[in-house]
Amino acid sequence: MMPNWRSVPLPQPFFSEETGAPFRHCLACDRSLLEAGTEYLIEKAFRTVRSLGSRDLIFEYALCLPCYDAVWTSFSEESRQRIEAYFSERIDYEGRARRLLHDKAADPRRWLSHCVVTGTAAEDLDEYQVVGLCEGDRMLLAHVPCLLGGAAMDELAALLSTQTLDEMGGFMQDFFPSPPGLEKDVPPLIFV
Ligand SMILES: [Zn+2]
Repeated sequence: MMPNWRSVPLPQPFFSEETGAPFRHCLACDRSLLEAGTEYLIEKAFRTVRSLGSRDLIFEYALCLPCYDAVWTSFSEESRQRIEAYFSERIDYEGRARRLLHDKAADPRRWLSHCVVTGTAAEDLDEYQVVGLCEGDRMLLAHVPCLLGGAAMDELAALLSTQTLDEMGGFMQDFFPSPPGLEKDVPPLIFV
Protein backbone atom coordinates (compact mmCIF):
# COMPACT_ATOMS: atom_id res chain seq x y z
CA MET A 1 0.00 0.00 0.00
CA MET A 2 2.82 2.44 0.82
CA PRO A 3 5.84 1.09 -1.05
CA ASN A 4 7.90 4.27 -0.86
CA TRP A 5 7.62 4.77 2.84
CA ARG A 6 10.73 4.40 4.85
CA SER A 7 10.58 1.91 7.64
CA VAL A 8 12.63 1.02 10.68
CA PRO A 9 12.66 -2.02 12.94
CA LEU A 10 9.73 -1.78 15.32
CA PRO A 11 10.95 0.55 18.08
CA GLN A 12 10.64 -0.26 21.75
CA PRO A 13 8.19 2.59 22.56
CA PHE A 14 5.68 0.69 20.43
CA PHE A 15 6.13 -2.63 22.13
CA SER A 16 3.28 -3.81 24.32
CA GLU A 17 3.66 -2.48 27.86
CA GLU A 18 1.97 -5.63 29.07
CA THR A 19 4.35 -8.12 27.47
CA GLY A 20 7.45 -6.01 26.81
CA ALA A 21 7.44 -7.44 23.27
CA PRO A 22 5.86 -6.43 19.94
CA PHE A 23 2.08 -6.80 19.61
CA ARG A 24 1.40 -10.15 17.98
CA HIS A 25 -2.32 -10.11 17.22
CA CYS A 26 -5.04 -7.73 16.06
CA LEU A 27 -7.24 -6.65 18.94
CA ALA A 28 -10.45 -7.16 16.96
CA CYS A 29 -9.89 -10.12 14.60
CA ASP A 30 -6.87 -11.77 16.25
CA ARG A 31 -4.96 -12.10 12.97
CA SER A 32 -1.22 -12.44 13.27
CA LEU A 33 0.53 -9.10 12.77
CA LEU A 34 4.22 -9.81 12.55
CA GLU A 35 4.30 -11.22 9.04
CA ALA A 36 5.66 -9.07 6.21
CA GLY A 37 2.87 -7.29 4.35
CA THR A 38 0.48 -7.10 7.31
CA GLU A 39 -0.26 -3.45 8.06
CA TYR A 40 -1.62 -2.38 11.39
CA LEU A 41 -1.89 0.52 13.79
CA ILE A 42 -0.66 0.70 17.33
CA GLU A 43 -2.18 3.05 19.87
CA LYS A 44 -1.07 3.43 23.47
CA ALA A 45 -2.60 5.92 25.91
CA PHE A 46 -0.92 7.10 29.10
CA ARG A 47 -1.76 9.21 32.10
CA THR A 48 1.06 10.84 33.99
CA VAL A 49 1.42 12.13 37.51
CA ARG A 50 4.15 14.68 37.05
CA SER A 51 4.66 15.31 40.75
CA LEU A 52 5.46 11.62 41.14
CA GLY A 53 7.24 11.29 37.83
CA SER A 54 4.99 8.31 37.11
CA ARG A 55 3.27 7.17 33.97
CA ASP A 56 0.32 4.79 33.87
CA LEU A 57 -0.90 2.94 30.82
CA ILE A 58 -4.62 3.61 30.23
CA PHE A 59 -4.93 1.22 27.31
CA GLU A 60 -2.93 -0.17 24.40
CA TYR A 61 -3.73 -2.14 21.34
CA ALA A 62 -2.82 -3.02 17.78
CA LEU A 63 -5.49 -3.12 15.10
CA CYS A 64 -5.03 -4.42 11.55
CA LEU A 65 -5.95 -1.96 8.80
CA PRO A 66 -9.13 -3.80 7.70
CA CYS A 67 -10.39 -3.67 11.29
CA TYR A 68 -9.33 -0.03 11.60
CA ASP A 69 -11.23 0.78 8.40
CA ALA A 70 -14.32 -0.89 9.83
CA VAL A 71 -14.12 1.33 12.93
CA TRP A 72 -13.45 4.44 10.88
CA THR A 73 -16.33 3.86 8.48
CA SER A 74 -18.69 3.29 11.41
CA PHE A 75 -18.25 6.97 12.31
CA SER A 76 -20.65 9.46 10.81
CA GLU A 77 -19.64 11.24 7.62
CA GLU A 78 -19.75 14.55 9.44
CA SER A 79 -17.45 13.36 12.20
CA ARG A 80 -14.97 11.89 9.75
CA GLN A 81 -14.81 15.20 7.90
CA ARG A 82 -14.32 17.10 11.13
CA ILE A 83 -11.56 14.77 12.27
CA GLU A 84 -9.73 15.10 8.97
CA ALA A 85 -10.15 18.88 8.95
CA TYR A 86 -8.98 19.16 12.55
CA PHE A 87 -5.68 17.47 11.80
CA SER A 88 -5.07 18.86 8.33
CA GLU A 89 -5.50 22.41 9.63
CA ARG A 90 -3.03 21.88 12.45
CA ILE A 91 -0.37 19.53 11.12
CA ASP A 92 2.07 20.01 8.30
CA TYR A 93 1.80 16.42 7.07
CA GLU A 94 4.15 16.84 4.15
CA GLY A 95 6.82 18.63 6.10
CA ARG A 96 6.60 16.09 8.87
CA ALA A 97 6.87 13.16 6.48
CA ARG A 98 9.77 14.84 4.68
CA ARG A 99 11.65 15.40 7.93
CA LEU A 100 11.05 11.83 8.98
CA LEU A 101 12.32 10.57 5.64
CA HIS A 102 15.51 12.58 5.99
CA ASP A 103 16.05 12.08 9.68
CA LYS A 104 19.38 10.31 9.66
CA ALA A 105 18.97 9.08 13.22
CA ALA A 106 15.64 7.51 12.18
CA ASP A 107 14.76 7.27 15.83
CA PRO A 108 10.96 7.34 16.16
CA ARG A 109 11.30 8.41 19.80
CA ARG A 110 12.29 11.83 18.50
CA TRP A 111 8.83 12.05 16.96
CA LEU A 112 7.15 11.43 20.28
CA SER A 113 8.75 14.28 22.19
CA HIS A 114 5.94 16.82 21.67
CA CYS A 115 2.20 16.85 20.96
CA VAL A 116 1.87 16.91 17.18
CA VAL A 117 -1.02 19.42 17.41
CA THR A 118 -0.14 21.80 20.24
CA GLY A 119 3.63 21.38 20.42
CA THR A 120 3.49 20.82 24.19
CA ALA A 121 6.42 18.75 25.43
CA ALA A 122 5.48 15.21 26.40
CA GLU A 123 6.80 15.68 29.94
CA ASP A 124 4.35 18.56 30.44
CA LEU A 125 1.29 16.54 29.46
CA ASP A 126 -1.02 14.89 31.97
CA GLU A 127 -2.41 12.55 29.36
CA TYR A 128 -1.30 11.54 25.91
CA GLN A 129 -1.48 8.88 23.25
CA VAL A 130 1.13 7.59 20.86
CA VAL A 131 0.11 6.24 17.48
CA GLY A 132 2.19 4.33 14.98
CA LEU A 133 1.66 2.56 11.67
CA CYS A 134 3.49 -0.72 11.16
CA GLU A 135 3.98 -3.49 8.68
CA GLY A 136 5.03 -6.83 10.10
CA ASP A 137 8.01 -6.20 12.33
CA ARG A 138 8.71 -2.75 10.84
CA MET A 139 7.37 0.70 11.67
CA LEU A 140 6.53 2.95 8.75
CA LEU A 141 7.74 6.54 8.92
CA ALA A 142 5.43 9.17 7.47
CA HIS A 143 3.30 11.67 9.39
CA VAL A 144 3.19 9.03 12.09
CA PRO A 145 4.50 7.94 14.52
CA CYS A 146 3.23 10.81 16.59
CA LEU A 147 2.15 11.80 20.06
CA LEU A 148 -1.18 13.47 20.76
CA GLY A 149 -1.77 15.28 24.05
CA GLY A 150 -4.91 15.28 26.17
CA ALA A 151 -5.83 18.87 25.28
CA ALA A 152 -5.86 18.03 21.58
CA MET A 153 -7.88 14.85 22.24
CA ASP A 154 -10.43 16.87 24.21
CA GLU A 155 -10.67 19.48 21.47
CA LEU A 156 -11.20 16.77 18.93
CA ALA A 157 -13.82 14.93 20.98
CA ALA A 158 -15.76 18.21 21.29
CA LEU A 159 -16.09 18.33 17.50
CA LEU A 160 -17.61 14.88 17.17
CA SER A 161 -21.23 13.89 16.88
CA THR A 162 -22.95 12.07 19.70
CA GLN A 163 -23.32 9.13 17.35
CA THR A 164 -19.58 8.98 16.74
CA LEU A 165 -18.76 9.33 20.41
CA ASP A 166 -21.15 6.45 21.05
CA GLU A 167 -19.39 4.38 18.37
CA MET A 168 -16.02 5.11 19.95
CA GLY A 169 -17.36 4.38 23.40
CA GLY A 170 -18.81 1.11 22.13
CA PHE A 171 -15.52 0.10 20.55
CA MET A 172 -13.62 0.81 23.74
CA GLN A 173 -16.23 -0.90 25.88
CA ASP A 174 -16.10 -4.01 23.70
CA PHE A 175 -12.40 -4.46 24.22
CA PHE A 176 -11.68 -2.66 27.47
CA PRO A 177 -14.77 -3.28 29.59
CA SER A 178 -13.53 -1.56 32.71
CA PRO A 179 -10.45 0.42 31.84
CA PRO A 180 -9.30 2.20 34.97
CA GLY A 181 -9.67 5.95 34.64
CA LEU A 182 -11.30 5.82 31.25
CA GLU A 183 -14.45 7.55 32.34
CA LYS A 184 -14.50 9.90 29.39
CA ASP A 185 -14.41 9.21 25.70
CA VAL A 186 -10.93 8.80 24.37
CA PRO A 187 -10.94 8.94 20.58
CA PRO A 188 -9.29 5.77 19.32
CA LEU A 189 -7.33 5.49 16.12
CA ILE A 190 -8.34 8.77 14.66
CA PHE A 191 -5.14 9.80 13.14
CA VAL A 192 -4.23 7.90 10.03
ZN1 LIG B 1 -8.05 -7.16 12.58
